[in-house]
Amino acid sequence: MSFTNLGTKQIQEKDRSYVFHPSTHLAKHSRGETPNRIMAGAEGVYIWDTEGRKSLDGFGGLYCVNMGYGCTEIADAIAKQAHELPFAHVYASQGTQPVARLAEAVVEYFGQNMQRVYFGLSGSDANETNIKLVWYYNNILGRPEKKKIISRHRGYHGSGLVTGSLTGLPFFHKFFDLPLNLVRHTTTPHYYRQAHEGETEEAFSKRCADELEALILAEGPETVAAFIGEPALGTGGIVPPPKGYWIAIQEVLDRYDILLIADEVVCGFARTGEKFGSHLYGMRPDFVTIAKGVSSAYLPISGSIIGDRVWSVLEEGTEKHGALGHGWTYSGHTLCAAAALANIQVLKERNILEHVQDVGPYWLSRMKAELEGHPIVGEVRGVGILSGVELMRDPKARIPFEPGLQVGVRAAAVLLDNGVIGRAMPHSDTLGFAPPLIITRNEVDIIADATAKSVDTTYRALK
Ligand code: PLP
Repeated sequence: MSFTNLGTKQIQEKDRSYVFHPSTHLAKHSRGETPNRIMAGAEGVYIWDTEGRKSLDGFGGLYCVNMGYGCTEIADAIAKQAHELPFAHVYASQGTQPVARLAEAVVEYFGQNMQRVYFGLSGSDANETNIKLVWYYNNILGRPEKKKIISRHRGYHGSGLVTGSLTGLPFFHKFFDLPLNLVRHTTTPHYYRQAHEGETEEAFSKRCADELEALILAEGPETVAAFIGEPALGTGGIVPPPKGYWIAIQEVLDRYDILLIADEVVCGFARTGEKFGSHLYGMRPDFVTIAKGVSSAYLPISGSIIGDRVWSVLEEGTEKHGALGHGWTYSGHTLCAAAALANIQVLKERNILEHVQDVGPYWLSRMKAELEGHPIVGEVRGVGILSGVELMRDPKARIPFEPGLQVGVRAAAVLLDNGVIGRAMPHSDTLGFAPPLIITRNEVDIIADATAKSVDTTYRALK
């Protein structure tokens, strides 16, 4: 079976008439006032549209196509599985080979005290699962008042009801009656933006931990159940934590018996140069959220990895009260699991972790060399193959541009014209980069050069 390819104009017409796009100005899209690029093919780190315009994908889709486009092993695994068994549910103890093998691979890849994986389809639903399980856990332990969840301003954890509440970006709350009442937000660990004059990174980390503790005490520790955080902030601006941050936070959580959810949706699977961001920063999570890099987005799959102290209570709960009432039809979807399993095999066989450890430092040093010191560059930051370039009106005085100027969006548009996709992050004028992890040094150079040129063009246009 095949269908006739439509011309670009025809696709755009249908797209504007029928598709409800996420995070989009709906009215402008319908009127044809937003760019409506129709993507058609991709290979390696490059993606192109129906008009043949090719771009180096410096954001790996939405920081998810980690193994790059055109990975034959993953595509073949999906095709093989689709022929053998496209779907069998995993409710009520039924299983499949891909799911069992994937769960083992994931638990082993994280290591530490992890016990089991509950599979979902998106980072949002995995975090939704985590929060339900945190509540179940405290109900089973006989402390029904311990239910609040603390997140950070500028954290990103999805855009569902609870997960959109955990997300600490007003854009995701406005007019949706969010955040829900059981969620609180604490200090953003962004040294460049938040530190006081003369404060060291370590002192700033300590202040973040003190402010968290003050919030817990104000709420009442007996009401606070869990803390959720990305090892390095992603959508809130791509910000690695200041030195000592997670160690200081972990101490506070331990003091008040508060669970830690490490949201590794972006940082997991070698993105930071360690297997997980938790390993890099010394986090000891009770839950680990995975998505994106687990399958390199060839098919949607996410997971909640559950640590031992929660797992034993979940088992105890079912001993007392029967089966757990939680599940989606597509939990542990057979095809998605086969894709993820193949992805993890490729990750290991091609030594991607070692590759990130080699190319990551080169990547950041090239970005810094090209951009630091430019009159509108406030900060070039990153870890592994993940980085942000923050544009500021006055970098030294830390004065941002007026939001209406949309400097980040304009810089990303110029960058695209120069052949590279970088993401204008939804908070601040930050250009985000998270290319496929297979990126070579030569391709890093192309991104660094194009970014420097584009930032400079943007600056000159502002004058
Ligand atoms: N958590 C983090 C850290 C993310 O970056 C994202 C998405 O970007 C999510 C959760 C939500 O994942 P999804 O968009 O698959 O629901």
